[in-house]
Order: sequence, then structure tokens, then C-alpha cells
Amino acid sequence: MALIVQKYGGTSVNGPERVKNVARRVVNTRRAGNEVVVIVSAPGDMTDDLIAMAHEISPNPPAREMDMLLATGEQTSIALLAMAIYELGEPVISLTGPQVGILTDNVHTKARILEVSCDRLRRELAEGKIVIVAGFQGMTCDNEITTLGRGGSDTTAVAVAAALKADVCQIYTDVDGVYTADPRVVPAARKLPVISYDEMLELASLGAQVLQPRSVEFGKLNHVVLEVRSSFNDNEGTLVKEVTELEKKMVVSGVAGDRNVARIALHDVPDRPGIAKALFVALARESINVDMIVQSAMRDGINDIAFTVGRDDLRKAVEVTERVRAEIGASKVTYNDRVAKVSIVGAGMITNPGVAADMFACLAEEGINIHMISTSEIKVSCIIDEEYLTRAMQALHSRFGLDKE
Ligand code: ADP
Ligand code: ASP
Ligand code: MG
Repeated sequence: MALIVQKYGGTSVNGPERVKNVARRVVNTRRAGNEVVVIVSAPGDMTDDLIAMAHEISPNPPAREMDMLLATGEQTSIALLAMAIYELGEPVISLTGPQVGILTDNVHTKARILEVSCDRLRRELAEGKIVIVAGFQGMTCDNEITTLGRGGSDTTAVAVAAALKADVCQIYTDVDGVYTADPRVVPAARKLPVISYDEMLELASLGAQVLQPRSVEFGKLNHVVLEVRSSFNDNEGTLVKEVTELEKKMVVSGVAGDRNVARIALHDVPDRPGIAKALFVALARESINVDMIVQSAMRDGINDIAFTVGRDDLRKAVEVTERVRAEIGASKVTYNDRVAKVSIVGAGMITNPGVAADMFACLAEEGINIHMISTSEIKVSCIIDEEYLTRAMQALHSRFGLDKE
């Protein structure tokens, strides 16, 4: 008997018909002779709706109460799915994250899983039940409910699969695998049969929302092979796993875009030690995540420093930067939230020089101006005006031959 962990995302459980569809798939897996643990997300846009509702009441809701609210979305799904499975005649039980014993740190709204207790899960499985677990949520050691950040149900699934040493961890969503780019943005995108953890981690971190980056990290650390598949058909999906050199055929394996970007610049900064420290320590103290950083060449003893943050953090980041500006005597702070990040990812870049140059040439031919650049061994990212993001993704996708077999 194999132990299979399946995760179904929000679109897959949006409405009674879809819940029943998932129930049938789960029951079929069970009746094929497997033990099954199922992780589910909140239905449809419920998480977005709950966030909007909170903001109608408070512009800055306490993070603890936010978690109390958001955790209800997943609790709705597990109960409904358990009812649908019960209707099909299989023994089943739904459990919240705290009931399972998913222990997290205490960073409300972006908690990290520290440990998954297997006792309750194993006991229910031993009684022959299908176990349904609420994704995206856990509990601190003080019994406080936490959530794991957007897309966090993916991470619940991988953490549960790792803890139970499951044979398979299947992520069922509304696309039938990981594509060379978001198929909603680049219609010519193709499904990848396999992708390495490292490439998937970059793609996910750079805006491909199909998996939460932390779930990929967790999979890599715990050697959990992920299978991304559609809940609406039986097509072969994509395997996310350790990939050997021989399997790496393409220089670039994917293109990603991210609109959740804002750029801040601090102008005419005195060129002396301690300036970058003053700015970035102040931002870190406010838990603001800084992504790209560029410092211009010094001229007459002054520099400019530009950096990017997520749009949610823009207001707070500008306030902090303004405060630092006054302290260090820089001339002004400017910002722009109509920018986006376009990236190419591929393990083959390590051994193929000129990939970045090719990317810049492609953007230039499209008449797209680059504001900032950052590179790592297996990715190149450019900040561009948001209005050109779709065009940039499509052009790069074709430039690197991703629309061809
Ligand atoms: P779920 O609710 O099942 O977790 P998500 O909406 O979080 O689903 O993720 C699936 C979506 O991710 C797809 O509908 C697709 O538009 C988007 N996506 C972005 N990049 C990619 C990619 N490279 N491959 C597949 N899907 C992608
Ligand atoms: N419901 C949560 C979200 O919308 C978690 C998830 O879907 O994975 O982000
Ligand atoms: Mg998701």
C-alpha cells in the first residue's frame, strides 16, 4: 500500500461541483489501494475576499487577528470536502493545522513550519480513514493560530509528505503542470516534463505562482519529489526533483514575471561608510524585504541608491527611507510602483556565456528600457515598466526557443 499526499488548490474546490469532483478523485485513489492524506486551500477567492473585508474594517489589522480570520477559509474547504467523501461512502475525517500538530514559529501571516507531528495523522490512517488537512495554517507553541503566507497550502502539503515519508506528493491545480512561462500570459508556453528544485525555486520566487517558493525549498531539503498536475484532467504533470546534468538540455527553461514590485531611489547620498547600513538596517527593522539594490558610481563624492520592495511594503519603505534621508543629508526620495520584474531562469546558463546579453538585446529590440538588473548563476532579472511586462515575457520566451519542441 502506498501513502499518497494530494493537495488541491482554491480553484479546484470552488463550488459544490468542484468539491464533489475532488472527492471522487480522492476516493478513486483510496479505492486503488492507497492511504491518502489530502491538503486543501480555501475555495476560490475566499482568502482575497477575507483580506478585503479586514481592510474595510481596519487599514492595518493586527497580524494575529488576520490569522484568526484567514484560517477560516481553509477550514471551510476541509469540512465540505469531508462531507462529499462521506457521501461517497468512505471513512474520512477533516483536521485543522492545529489539530494535526503543525507547529510553526510565531511570525503571524508569514509563519514558517518548524515541525509536523505524525501521531494524529497516523492514528486516523490506521483506522482506515482518508485524512483531510487544512492547508496554509499551523499553531505556535503557545497555541496561537498562524498562517504561512500566500500560496502556503503548497508548503503544508510538502511538509506533511516529508513528515509521513509519503511515497508521492501531488499538487493538483488549474494547470496541468509547470510551464515554460505562465500559460495565461504566454499562450505559446509548453509544459515541462521535469524541472529541478533549483530552477523551480527561482521561477517560484520570481513570480511563477504555481508553487509557493518555500514548498520547493522544503521539498529539496527533505527529498520530496513533487508532481504538479491538473485536478480537471488526467494528463501527465511535471516532476519537480533533483535533475542530473544529463537531463539538463535547455539553456533557459522558463520565463517569469512579477508585478508585485516597487522601486525606491535615494538621491545624492554622501559617499562614505555606513550609509547603506543606515538605510537597510532601518528597513530590516520594519521587516521590509528588499530585493534588488543598485548603487550608482560615485561623482563628486555623492551616489544614488535604488532598491526594490514588494508593493505592500511601499508606503512603509518610503517612510523609512525618508527618515534616513533626513539623517544622512541626501537630497530626495523618489519611488515608482508601475514597474515589474521579468526574469529568465535556467541551469544551463552556468555553462553558456552570453545569455544575459541575449536577454538585453531582446528587450532592446522590443524598445523596452531596463531600469535595474540582477543576476545569479541560474537567472537574470530586469526591472522594466509594468506596461511592457507581457510583451517582454512573450518576446523572451520566443527568443530562447521555449515555444519549440
Ligand atoms: P492553486 O489555487 O491551485 O494553488 P495558483 O493560482 O496558486 O493555484 O497557481 C496556479 C497558477 O499559476 C496557474 O493558473 C498559472 O496561471 C500560474 N502560473 C504562473 N507561472 C506558471 C508556470 N510557469 N507554469 C504553470 N502555471 C503558472
Ligand atoms: N488560501 C491561501 C492563499 O490564497 C493559501 C493557498 O491557497 O495556498 O494564499
Ligand atoms: Mg497556489
